[in-house]
Amino acid sequence: MKILVINAGSSSLKYQLIDMQTEEAIAKGTCERIGIAGGKLTHKARGESFVFEKEMESHTDAIALVLEKLTDKKVGVVKSMDEIDAVGHRVVASGEEFTKTTLVTDETMKVLETLSELAPLHNPPAILGINACRAVMKGKKMAMVFDTSFHATMPDYAYMYGIDYDDYKQHKVRKYGFHGTSHAFVSGEAAKYLGKNPADLRIITCHLGNGSSISAVKGGKCIDTSMGFTPLAGVPMGTRSGDIDCAAAEFLFRKKGLGMQEGMNYLNKKCGMLGLSGVSSDFRDLTAACKEGNDRARLALDCFAYACKKYVGAYMVALGGLDCVVFTAGVGENTPSVRAAVLSDMQAFGIVLDETENNRGNDGTIREISAKNSPVKVLVIPTNEELVIARETAQAVGS
Ligand code: ADP
Repeated sequence: MKILVINAGSSSLKYQLIDMQTEEAIAKGTCERIGIAGGKLTHKARGESFVFEKEMESHTDAIALVLEKLTDKKVGVVKSMDEIDAVGHRVVASGEEFTKTTLVTDETMKVLETLSELAPLHNPPAILGINACRAVMKGKKMAMVFDTSFHATMPDYAYMYGIDYDDYKQHKVRKYGFHGTSHAFVSGEAAKYLGKNPADLRIITCHLGNGSSISAVKGGKCIDTSMGFTPLAGVPMGTRSGDIDCAAAEFLFRKKGLGMQEGMNYLNKKCGMLGLSGVSSDFRDLTAACKEGNDRARLALDCFAYACKKYVGAYMVALGGLDCVVFTAGVGENTPSVRAAVLSDMQAFGIVLDETENNRGNDGTIREISAKNSPVKVLVIPTNEELVIARETAQAVGS
């Protein structure tokens, strides 16, 4: 079985064609600058990387180009579209309407369209991607796989905000969480690596990248997560503020003369590591600047690690103990100094890192970085959100 995984953004579209027998991507790539002059497709297949410059007016043009390359004699990996069994689409927000992977139909698309309000930057492009595939691949089975599904198991007292209950009911304002496919994948891989039944494990998964979120996973199910109604909440991120007192935000907007939209843009794009450091939103730049003595880069990194540490502490209590901490995503997989800072001085709580193992370079495999005598295991696990989408899709279309 071969599943095409699509992750559509407003002007970009990423794809992977995954062979479900081997669970390997046999081709992958990205369309950039959709609807903007200078369109480009980077396509990786057969051990090579190919770049095609082609204007793409719409997501439909982009999907058509992707299919042309996937079935091309020289750069393709399948003879025809018939060899693609189904398509899995990444969708960020499911609201409360969808709690699991859902087949794409006229009816489910109608419901999905009502949810764009919940993720105005992410859901509308996903809808464009789905509609484009439906236009170009008529009759092909498709599924929508949500970033939020894994968090649907949170208990009500974890996802509720302290607001009027009627407002929650009417407007659906609550914590939803994000990066669910990643938290699901790495917590599952951790159980496999440890040779344990997920039902017996209490795991904290730290997805630390440009956007970061931390989840508490008990018995294979998410019981809490750091992002909220939107991906703005939780720890400070590349450019997002993370948790902030709403009244402080309102005060700042007033002082800076920002309207609500501009203010939200400020919190999403100009804060976090970028705002704190004045250097960059990228952790590579920040760690380099910090080493050179830049005190604001040091401050940004300290704020980040401290916020992550507090979530680890809180979730350890919420889980009633802890068996394993997992680091994943760009920063979690590649930045030993951040991992060490997040878990520093936690010996009293059973978390001891092995410095040598922590500093070993990322080789793309699962690595155990806790000391041999550490009661809590600490693992670095490369995430694979596309594989989760492919597995979920295979299951949904098969059933
Ligand atoms: P996104 O949230 O956009 O998916 P990523 O998970 O790719 O982000 O994480 C991006 C962050 O990870 C950047 O701050 C970058 O510094 C860091 N990062 C990514 N790859 C590496 C690497 N090979 N070495 C060090 N840091 C990396």
